[in-house]
Amino acid sequence: MKLGFNEGTTYKSATLMGNLELCEKLGYDFIEPRSTEQIPNYLAEGNTLEDLKAWFDQHKLKPLTLNTLCFFNNRSEEDEQAIIEEFTKYLTIAHKIGCPNIAMVPSHREHMKNEKTSLTEINQDNARMLKKFGLMAKEYDIKLDLEFIGLPQSTVNTFKQAVDIIEMVDMDNVGIIYDTFQCQGMGSRPEDINESNIKYIFSFHINDVDDLVTGHMTDDDRCWPGEGIINLDSHIKPLLKFGYDDVTTIELFRPEYYEMDPEYVIKKSKETMVEVLSRNGVKLGQAVN
Ligand code: ZN
Repeated sequence: MKLGFNEGTTYKSATLMGNLELCEKLGYDFIEPRSTEQIPNYLAEGNTLEDLKAWFDQHKLKPLTLNTLCFFNNRSEEDEQAIIEEFTKYLTIAHKIGCPNIAMVPSHREHMKNEKTSLTEINQDNARMLKKFGLMAKEYDIKLDLEFIGLPQSTVNTFKQAVDIIEMVDMDNVGIIYDTFQCQGMGSRPEDINESNIKYIFSFHINDVDDLVTGHMTDDDRCWPGEGIINLDSHIKPLLKFGYDDVTTIELFRPEYYEMDPEYVIKKSKETMVEVLSRNGVKLGQAVN
């Protein structure tokens, strides 16, 4: 297994270059850069995507997943056009910097043109949009990772629903991000991972969460692995059993952590993640598929 760092964890306390240098220094293999703040800020300072590609070429740390195309399904025609334009921009970024995945987050209820849209229509529209995006991404050999969101207002909020959608899409470059917070948030169960759906899991986000009721947790409540209520071993065991051995990426959005020294946060993130992986017998540094 390799180790990844999602920039959401320190995006308010460090720049893109700050995160890159610290992740390289602290021994991460991959970073998930943010298309929403960190990269635009980096470009606004006069840097180019070619500069960023050159940095990755010269370092061990590599880009894994560009975060994030948000709220793409069941939109009005006008909104959909804007989202396709945004996605096209992200494809260019991912292609130019050599980032092999783009994270895709489904709409919340309030983004839909009709808030009472049926589950069937939501799943169908997710599949329609992901197929459209998947075909565009294929030309650049880029994969798309649908992230189900463990909030009641998300239109795709369980692992099972994400699997249903990805089966409808049926493209080998469109899969799922399996995130322990998103599972806990709306009660997705690790028992739902099996030998037939493991191939849809393109990446694994690890984190923990404060002691809160299902449906009441927010990103702010995420915490370091081992400091919350998620039974992380129960997620890692089936992932390993059915053959996921790619990258484990830590992803936190806790306001207190933004007040801390980013080096401390990035170091502690690695230590807490490694502790959980190690006790499950995960060997670090093995080849990625
Ligand atoms: Zn995630």
